Amino acid sequence: MGCGTSKVLPEPPKDVHLDLVKKVEPYTGYKTDIYKHFIKGDGDAIKSAIPSPPRHTNPHVEQAEPRKNRVAKYRAKFDPRVTAKYDIKALIGRGSFSRVVRVEHKATKQPYAIKLIETKYREGREVCESELCVLRRVRHTNIIQLIEVFETQERVYMVMELATGGELFDRIIAKGSFTERDATRVLQMVLDGVKYLHTLGITHRDLKPENLLYYHPGMDSKIMITDFGLASARKKGDDCLMKTTCGTPEYIAPEILVRKPYTNSVDMWALGVISYILLSGTMPFEDDNRTRLYRQILKGKYSYSGEPWPSVSNLAKDFIDRLLTVDPSDRMTALQALKHPWVVSMAASSSMKNLHRSISQNLLKRASSRCQSTKSAQSTRSSRSTKSNKSRRVRERELRELNLRYQQQYNG
Ligand code: ADP
Ligand code: MG
Repeated sequence: MGCGTSKVLPEPPKDVHLDLVKKVEPYTGYKTDIYKHFIKGDGDAIKSAIPSPPRHTNPHVEQAEPRKNRVAKYRAKFDPRVTAKYDIKALIGRGSFSRVVRVEHKATKQPYAIKLIETKYREGREVCESELCVLRRVRHTNIIQLIEVFETQERVYMVMELATGGELFDRIIAKGSFTERDATRVLQMVLDGVKYLHTLGITHRDLKPENLLYYHPGMDSKIMITDFGLASARKKGDDCLMKTTCGTPEYIAPEILVRKPYTNSVDMWALGVISYILLSGTMPFEDDNRTRLYRQILKGKYSYSGEPWPSVSNLAKDFIDRLLTVDPSDRMTALQALKHPWVVSMAASSSMKNLHRSISQNLLKRASSRCQSTKSAQSTRSSRSTKSNKSRRVRERELRELNLRYQQQYNG
């Protein structure tokens, strides 16, 4: 959620204070909209599809570079074994060490996603290993399926099922209505996937709205859990305790922050955060200052003030409270959450109050204030290239479009 969240990647636990938790800034490029950069023969989109890691070269020199060379350079990022089998179509996502592109299988014309991970650096290698280790083991309707893998010295290409329905919150904003029943339906699917993972001894450790994708654009689309880069898979005979500090700050469970050994209930905390956002468009724990944010989380301090909370049922609040429980042993498991009366009763109910207006307003407000702060942070950095200015413009344009869509839905 927002313009850019930084992940805290795994690091060996140390006996140090919270402010030493390693922060790894994400790649500053912006995730493009699905299908925005089609390759139309001239290969221009390939350039935007697979950018190199940020370099401090003169952008004008890049501009002057003949297009043919540029195309060749970006095609070169794909191993010939991959391009022999798949047509690279468009960039659909970017992460810290990865690019996700939409591809088409040449023979069957079937669309897929390929996640390209740079494994030159240790972090990339570790993220890739975790992800492959998990994806190779799982098969569930609410989890993205791995199809095949290509590996080279410096990169790994994971061919996966393609989710074309967009990320969870983009869909909610675009949808025009959102009720508690809709929320429970989303959560039921995510909980089904999480329950399956936990049964296999897998902890996702980075559950957040950006990693929950709709399978297709239709109203009846299922939700898929993606991005197992921080996941931990327990081997047979291992105890179920983990120690590594990692996750996305706003979603990190308190026990991780105090560096206690923890279990898969950290995913349930993250689901509490997601449920809170789903029902309000706001974050339960939020502060630009990392230490203050962690303090809020450690205290489990959040409130149900402001819109639309007065319209939200007590049962829904009880559901969230039982997930945002500081003591992990008191927190609901995925199975218990699936059996919570709010999930059971609401998923079956037919009509409910529309919370969409406040949720969308809150989501958009937050997104624009995030972009504003990113903008001021960027303006203080002198070495910013035109690439980041461009990504900022794309972000601002997208926000304007979202605002417009929202206004149209409500005024018309
Ligand atoms: P990272 O670990 O770098 O966050 P992700 O696996 O989350 O990488 O991918 C980044 C983004 O790419 C996602 O947020 C999503 O928008 C898009 N994406 C990833 N996998 C798929 C997929 N299988 N189908 C469609 N889009 C995807
Ligand atoms: Mg991700």
